[in-house]
Amino acid sequence: MLKGRTAIVTGSGRGIGKAIALKLASMGANVVINDIPSSEDADKTCEEVKAMGVGSAVIKGDVRNIEDVKTLVNTTVKEFGSIDIFVNNAGVTRDGLMLRMSEEDWDLVMDINLKGAFNCIKTVARPMMKQRKGSIINIASIVGVMGNAGQANYSASKAGLIGLTKTTAKEFASRGIRCNAVAPGFIRSAMTDVLSDEVKQQYFDAIPLGKFGETDDIANVVAFLASDMSNYVTGQVINIDGGLVM
Ligand code: NAP
Repeated sequence: MLKGRTAIVTGSGRGIGKAIALKLASMGANVVINDIPSSEDADKTCEEVKAMGVGSAVIKGDVRNIEDVKTLVNTTVKEFGSIDIFVNNAGVTRDGLMLRMSEEDWDLVMDINLKGAFNCIKTVARPMMKQRKGSIINIASIVGVMGNAGQANYSASKAGLIGLTKTTAKEFASRGIRCNAVAPGFIRSAMTDVLSDEVKQQYFDAIPLGKFGETDDIANVVAFLASDMSNYVTGQVINIDGGLVM
């Protein structure tokens, strides 16, 4: 279904990004793995993608750095001939109650989660405009929709990402570029493994489907948004949360 297309997934050495990379590869896309320069997981993910019979490469770089992002996009276009799908997945948390939150923790989360996505969209839009086709998918969060005590920086960055998604959809629709977001709820990954049992239980009790999400639950919806099956969908935010927000 994605044969001959090329995708970039940021922060795809592990977790949700890795699941997305493997899912897109299983549908026939070439997938470029991006992660921070010190990542030890990116090469392994790349090998797993190649084993599925598609092209892959690791292009490390920090999404906060526009030069790194330009290298990521330009090298991909040079090596694979096009860039059809871009997934803004790289993200971090630095939780704490607002009165105690440092400026450093605010800036770090905003820089990676929001400015990083802006850098990527601005850069990838040029080749996608030339092709007159492209699908950009942003990994937001339900806390960007509903807020969450202890996550002022993270919830603001994800709410900002939702606004950025809608503006991108409006600015580039006439050029054939679609932009959508998914908003995961509680997904089992390194990011949520560190939460206390008490917080995990609170989430669990509030999820109507009665289970935590898996990384593949996110990858499946991203695959739909990446493919022509969602050709008439743009500017949308899809919650993937077992019914937590409705
Ligand atoms: P994860 O396991 O921590 O993965 C995040 C990945 O992003 C890591 O590989 C990380 O690299 C990479 N990364 C961090 N900073 C980066 C940067 N500046 N440039 C490039 N890559 C960077 O977390 P996850 O749970 O898979 O989360 C993936 C996305 O889903 C994030 O945007 C997150 O906010 C969102 N999300 C997750 C959940 C959840 O329940 N897990 C819920 C809602 C939304 P290093 O590890 O090497 O630092």
